[in-house]
Amino acid sequence: MSLTITHIGQLAEGSTLLEDAFLTIDKGRIADYGPMNAAPRGGETLDAEGGMVIPGFCDSHTHIVWAGSRDGEFLDKLSGLSYEEIARRGGGILNSADLLHRTSEDELYAQSMVRVREVMAMGTTTLEIKSGYGLNPEDELKMLRVIDRIRRSVPITVKSTFLGAHAVGRGYTREAYVNEVIRMLPQAAELSDFVDVFCDEGFFTPDETERILSSAARLGLKGKIHANELAESGGVEVGVRCGALSVDHLERSGEAQIAVLKDSGTIPVMLPGSSFFLGIPFAPAKAFVRAGLPLALASDYNPGSSPSGDMRFVMALGCIRMRLTPLEALQAVTVHGARALGLEHETGSIARGKRADLILSQPGWTLTRLPYLYRTPWIRTVFAGGESVA
Ligand SMILES: [Zn+2]
Repeated sequence: MSLTITHIGQLAEGSTLLEDAFLTIDKGRIADYGPMNAAPRGGETLDAEGGMVIPGFCDSHTHIVWAGSRDGEFLDKLSGLSYEEIARRGGGILNSADLLHRTSEDELYAQSMVRVREVMAMGTTTLEIKSGYGLNPEDELKMLRVIDRIRRSVPITVKSTFLGAHAVGRGYTREAYVNEVIRMLPQAAELSDFVDVFCDEGFFTPDETERILSSAARLGLKGKIHANELAESGGVEVGVRCGALSVDHLERSGEAQIAVLKDSGTIPVMLPGSSFFLGIPFAPAKAFVRAGLPLALASDYNPGSSPSGDMRFVMALGCIRMRLTPLEALQAVTVHGARALGLEHETGSIARGKRADLILSQPGWTLTRLPYLYRTPWIRTVFAGGESVA
């Protein structure tokens, strides 16, 4: 059965905003849209009362599956310790791995689903989730099975990424652990869509990253890389060389990385929530956009460096701290996010035939207000595949 949303004040279609528009959803897809005077008669209707319709958010980088809490580390951070110092004291990723090891699969699923429901209610209709808090074969596969279970139980689109190389697992030398990650790949490939490596100072080198990505490519897994968060790590270069779908973070990057990414097909993804939380520089988003690159912004939702999955806040940081226009920020959290997941033909923009992944605002909202009044409640309904999920 079809549903027509009428009297839409602003409809974000690509880089234009249609005013006073309608949009028809049929069989979970966007069937048609246009000016209100061309709206179809009859059928079920929903009066937007001047509210705005934008594509649902595509969050292409999260670590939303984790166990327990890292409240203590937050207090350490407030007392002045840096992310690196907390990691050296046994906190950080290894702390999450220990907590995850002690948590049952059912409990891990239940804890993670609370956050998945939270982000759905905030308008996320496409969600990437990484493993990487297991750091041994048994626990990494446990995480991937939980992500798979989430994928099968929610109406939004979920993509799974194997991030075995998030940090060196306890009890391994780095070299032994890289070999272990490569041995895990065939089983991981059955449960995941992508492979990711934390290629940065103090984590994995470009050579190790290339070994992992080329083994993954033989199994059909495309790469995504954590690159240039802590240093100019060479991660962008190795990502482009290996045909990675995206290179993510990029706080420490500039003209050299822009030149490498130009015409590469690899999508730059920036994570302003972690810059905000850690107090590190924001990545140079405006320079990337000016260079014509399809910049995506994502939440990086995780317990250590970005404890929020609110993509509207990500958009606000994109505007307020990175100086993107509201339209540039919107494209970064929707269609470019979809590109970073290889889903741009399926979702991420308002186009006939695409999945009806949409957010309908309350009356009175405009695209400019979204990042400006960044804490005011604004969502009326979230549609995922045409189904109302919030
Ligand atoms: Zn991350």
